[in-house]
Amino acid sequence: MLWPALTIVACAAALALHFWWRAKLRRERESWLAGRAREENREQTAAAEVRAQQAALFDSMIEGVLVLDDAGCVQFANRAFAQMFTTTGGLRGRVLLEAVRLNEIVEIVQRAGQEGRVIDHELRLPGEPECWLQINAAALTSVDRRRLGTILVFHNLTRIKKLERTRQEFVANVSHELRTPLSLIKGYAETLLAGAKDNPEVAERFLRVIERNAQRLDLLIQDLLTISALESGRVQLDLQPVSLPPVAEEVLASFKERATARGVKLVNTLPDLTANADAGRVQQVLANLVDNAVKYGRDGGTVSIGGRAAENGLIEVFVQDDGPGIPAEALERVFERFYRVDKARSREQGGTGLGLAIVKHIVQSHGGAVWVTNEPGKGATFFFTLPGAQ
Ligand code: ADP
Repeated sequence: MLWPALTIVACAAALALHFWWRAKLRRERESWLAGRAREENREQTAAAEVRAQQAALFDSMIEGVLVLDDAGCVQFANRAFAQMFTTTGGLRGRVLLEAVRLNEIVEIVQRAGQEGRVIDHELRLPGEPECWLQINAAALTSVDRRRLGTILVFHNLTRIKKLERTRQEFVANVSHELRTPLSLIKGYAETLLAGAKDNPEVAERFLRVIERNAQRLDLLIQDLLTISALESGRVQLDLQPVSLPPVAEEVLASFKERATARGVKLVNTLPDLTANADAGRVQQVLANLVDNAVKYGRDGGTVSIGGRAAENGLIEVFVQDDGPGIPAEALERVFERFYRVDKARSREQGGTGLGLAIVKHIVQSHGGAVWVTNEPGKGATFFFTLPGAQ
């Protein structure tokens, strides 16, 4: 009786052990599967984060970046690229020519494929506004030298191109401005040496021309040095509270003789205003503006300096004449270096073409603005602002 009972108990125990063991295995398997799923999930999230970081990094670049696969289809394009080529919608998967519509870029990609890389290729995009790009391209290859595609980096060169052009124009203008008085000095000196010196009357006249042109060269060089110092940022402004009426009075006094010779009346209506400015530079601004007003104003006319306390703690000063004024299309341009409405008249008056460019620089370096208004036939009024003293 005992044995059958023991056998039943042993069988029951074996069965219990078997089910317990299966349940344990299942639990372990489930927990292992859940761990793996979590691990995969973590890896996917990490990869997505890296991709998002890379995209954010590329999108924050000012250079355009374009990655193509081996078949020449877009794999990646950053935001700067989309802006440069004004593309809309997703570019991924699109053929290069369809994305950029420029054969020259397709050729760069082909050259990068053949030569490994293309460096500093310059290209002007068709249409307006003017846009210049510098392109660097490199073929992408795997470790086993399999061709994977091409990466292109586009750098916007427009500002540099414009600066380069401005510099070239400036050098050409300066050379031209220097050449005219120099060739006059040379010509008159040669004529004197060839015999004119023996006629005192002629000699005196020629020497006066030489003197006048030497003075013109001197003025031009002084103005060029001022412009170059202002542009290089070497000029340190000595900012102090400056009472403006006495400064204006001093400037007008220095023009008194020239104004009287033309019957021009000089008037100072500036109220008691104090600017936070460099007194010497403010004097230079007023002197250039009064000089122009006397030069280009009307014989027998009036030149006045006035002003007011304007908004935001600024002081607004004006210099007004009652001459012929400035044609509407030239109002913006008169502040450009060497721009003159009437070249012959400016030269005849001893102008260098740099006076207003200097005015603009000085005013802007004080944080102010300068502009001119015009009533046709009623003269020009130049305004500028300066920070007021607290
Ligand atoms: P410039 O040495 O020729 O006077 P500026 O830079 O001082 O050079 O002035 C540029 C041009 O602006 C002048 O050549 C002139 O044509 C014009 N201009 C300046 N001020 C006046 C004014 N008050 N009335 C008329 N034209 C003016």
